[in-house]
Amino acid sequence: MSAPIAEDALKSVDQHLADVLSGIRPIAPLDLQLLDAHGCILAESVVADVDLPRFDNSSVDGYAVRLADVAKASPSTPAQLPVVGDIAAGSRPTYTVQPGMSVRIMTGAPVPPGAEAVVPLEWTDGGIATVTITQAPQAGNSVRRQGEDVKTGQVVLDAGTRLGPGQLGLLAAVGRDRVVVRPRPRVVILSTGSELVEPGSPLEPGQIHESNSYILTTAAREAGATAFRVGIVPDDDRSLMNAIEDQLIRADLVLTSGGVSVGAYDVVKEVLSRLGTVRFERVAMQPGKPQGFGTVGPDNTPIITLPGNPVSSYVSFEVFVRPVIRRMLGVEPLHRPVVRATCLQAMTSVPGKRQFARAWLDVADGRYVVRPVGGHGSHLVGDLAHSNSLVVVPEDVTEVPEGGTVEVMVLERRLS
Ligand code: AMP
Ligand code: MG
Repeated sequence: MSAPIAEDALKSVDQHLADVLSGIRPIAPLDLQLLDAHGCILAESVVADVDLPRFDNSSVDGYAVRLADVAKASPSTPAQLPVVGDIAAGSRPTYTVQPGMSVRIMTGAPVPPGAEAVVPLEWTDGGIATVTITQAPQAGNSVRRQGEDVKTGQVVLDAGTRLGPGQLGLLAAVGRDRVVVRPRPRVVILSTGSELVEPGSPLEPGQIHESNSYILTTAAREAGATAFRVGIVPDDDRSLMNAIEDQLIRADLVLTSGGVSVGAYDVVKEVLSRLGTVRFERVAMQPGKPQGFGTVGPDNTPIITLPGNPVSSYVSFEVFVRPVIRRMLGVEPLHRPVVRATCLQAMTSVPGKRQFARAWLDVADGRYVVRPVGGHGSHLVGDLAHSNSLVVVPEDVTEVPEGGTVEVMVLERRLS
């Protein structure tokens, strides 16, 4: 057991963050099927080996024609042309449009040799054997040119791109069924506490519903991880060690909440301290002072032990864990955007600690304004639900006047 640390020995937030990040590497890239790669970060640059469109094709249902045959077409002087056949989407162009002839063509079908434009169905009488055309097309009308979108040899996606619907559609369009990506880190979330009960189940006196794992699981998912909510682990050594050992198989990162203070049943700290690979420290921040991190198991899986109070665990997630997940994903920037805002309410802060205060950030008259939400208490989840940002009050600031400028960590891009 290490000797108790004096209050003045608090570790700085920046030092702790640097220490936690120092052991984290991006996860090795993996070749995945397109749908499995959804939301992942591309680890290769993708070069098209085809043109898009692949071939000149019609953008409408209509008639492929030669320009000279329809140059004078108008409602009063319509052109009449025999229709020598049909070309459907997916069929090979077996016809050549000879002078004085036309070919009926469907959207997406290859434009046949000889054709110089496609006349949309709406400019015609829709004839099958002979068509009457009442409007003259420009050269190339309604023709989608080969390679006008993407050219063979072009880099269509750079490494580092996040794969959403548009990117996955492009990969499929150029014929790729697999891509090399950084897979989502697998994050396992355990909530320790013998007082905890699953939401939806009735409570005995002294019990509370478990909520941290809902915050942490969804926050991890929003950060880009695949998160597994394990649920509640009671405050005893065996249960905790068993739960961690059981989960290591599917974890790139283990998160626990609770049990890291100085209480008699703070089992996370007791049990993991003995391993010698997890450090427990007191960080100069509010909320979130008790923090622990290290590695567990044969593969030295990173573990971060978050405090139990819901607000503390969420703030700690934002400050330490989200950057870890982003480092594992191999994306920059690691940190949330920070903006300067006018604080609409006076605030006080403890000297020597960095305060992260739940707040509502908004824009008024083209400037950011921010209002702290609720009190200092790290149990106040009601307030947490009505915040979209954290006001960051530096260690050496003890008072922020109403109208003062503060830095604000933006948690949601959507403001009001
Ligand atoms: P601890 O650090 O384990 O002493 O927990 C600090 C406070 O947070 C206690 O009031 C716990 O009941 C509460 N707490 C711990 N874990 C959770 C959780 N998963 N959900 C809700 N509250 C929790
Ligand atoms: Mg506890």
